[in-house]
Amino acid sequence: MWTYHPDLLARPVPRYTSYPTAAQFTGDVGPADMAARLDGIAARDALSLYVHIPYCHDICWYCGCNTGAANRTHRLSAYVEALEREIAMIAARLAGRGRVARIAFGGGSPNSLPLVDFIRLMQQIILCFDAHHADVSVELDPRRLDAQWIDAMGAMGIGRVNLGVQTFSPHVQTRIGRIQPIDMVERAVDRLGAAGVATGFDLMYGLPGQSMDDLIATLNATVRLAPARIALFGYAHMPRLLPRQRRIDAGDLPDVAARFAMAAAGHGLLTGAGYRAIGFDHFALPTDGLALAAADGHLRRNFQGFTDDPASVLIGLGASAISQFPDLLVQNEKQAGPYRAMVEAGHLPAARGIARTAEDRRRGAIVESLLCRGMVDLADGDPLPDLSRFVDRGLARVTGRRIVLTAAALPYARSIAAAFDAYLAPEENRFSHAV
Ligand code: SF4
Repeated sequence: MWTYHPDLLARPVPRYTSYPTAAQFTGDVGPADMAARLDGIAARDALSLYVHIPYCHDICWYCGCNTGAANRTHRLSAYVEALEREIAMIAARLAGRGRVARIAFGGGSPNSLPLVDFIRLMQQIILCFDAHHADVSVELDPRRLDAQWIDAMGAMGIGRVNLGVQTFSPHVQTRIGRIQPIDMVERAVDRLGAAGVATGFDLMYGLPGQSMDDLIATLNATVRLAPARIALFGYAHMPRLLPRQRRIDAGDLPDVAARFAMAAAGHGLLTGAGYRAIGFDHFALPTDGLALAAADGHLRRNFQGFTDDPASVLIGLGASAISQFPDLLVQNEKQAGPYRAMVEAGHLPAARGIARTAEDRRRGAIVESLLCRGMVDLADGDPLPDLSRFVDRGLARVTGRRIVLTAAALPYARSIAAAFDAYLAPEENRFSHAV
């Protein structure tokens, strides 16, 4: 069972969906860097695509994503046209090299687009890339998910749909600006299942007014609906960075001890119900690809969280999307307007990022191994920071150059990984709670 050590969680730490994290990005990286990395891709290299749709019909107050209101048809269609151009531009640069093995649509809410526009985007990808056999996943907002969308997902062979659920408690839904009755989600899950599409749920703890009983009730309902994957995230309240969160009453938020108890209860309930814990915040049914990857040591971490995607190149398309190459992280222009202008002028919309040095890559591999495999074998020359505060509490064992996290270390995994982060200043406060 997990033990609460407040001192080990006091320091905010990144989520490490990359190393270095986006906090280290600068404007020194741009289109020329992106183009050079695309030129370096070989004919048979596996590629993953991420397509960002920065719009939602109803903006949730807690949301930390780059998204805006989908309230003008013209804005949406202009964005889709820009995406089509960007897809064509990247494909032209690749000139047939690379095979697309994974495609993920996220946002925002891809179903804020008219269905016909989503189909257009899929078609453009298939026309421009070698992507006929790609696994495709799509994030969808259940509040706007009609039967046509679901049936189209089945017809297009979409493998998995991720539903933003967060909580089933009506009084918590009211406090986060996301009203979504459980039968709405239930109908979507049933119809997706009938269409042969697997589902994943995103859930949250630490929400305003959310009690332990609220969380348990949501988790029990989730187990009954049996999604193949579950992500259980802690709500990160950062109203200075995310003005929309100012609508949330900070006085309603559970404290760190209550958050810790919720994360622990969630882990216990879901693993007790037969889900495998994947890293520190994901869960998957034992037959799901994520659980299989975790079992055989192939779990990875990228901008989408924990993944079984083995590709070392991820190409981000759309405003604010991040591309990942072994030696470069590069983010597209964040705002949709300037993004469109760059693409329309025929430029790759890369705006900022960081070139990963050999040292970054070495540290990044250590961070990824600790978070995905709960252990790491340090090579000669790798740093070995002082981990005694974790070792003394029975959370980690250091034997020679091997570090192994114990089962009790899961809620501290990010904090342990942070010991290898050369960029993290002691007073860093732009990241969220460690739990
Ligand atoms: S639907 Fe998702 S992306 Fe859109 S505002 Fe809500 S949480 Fe954010």
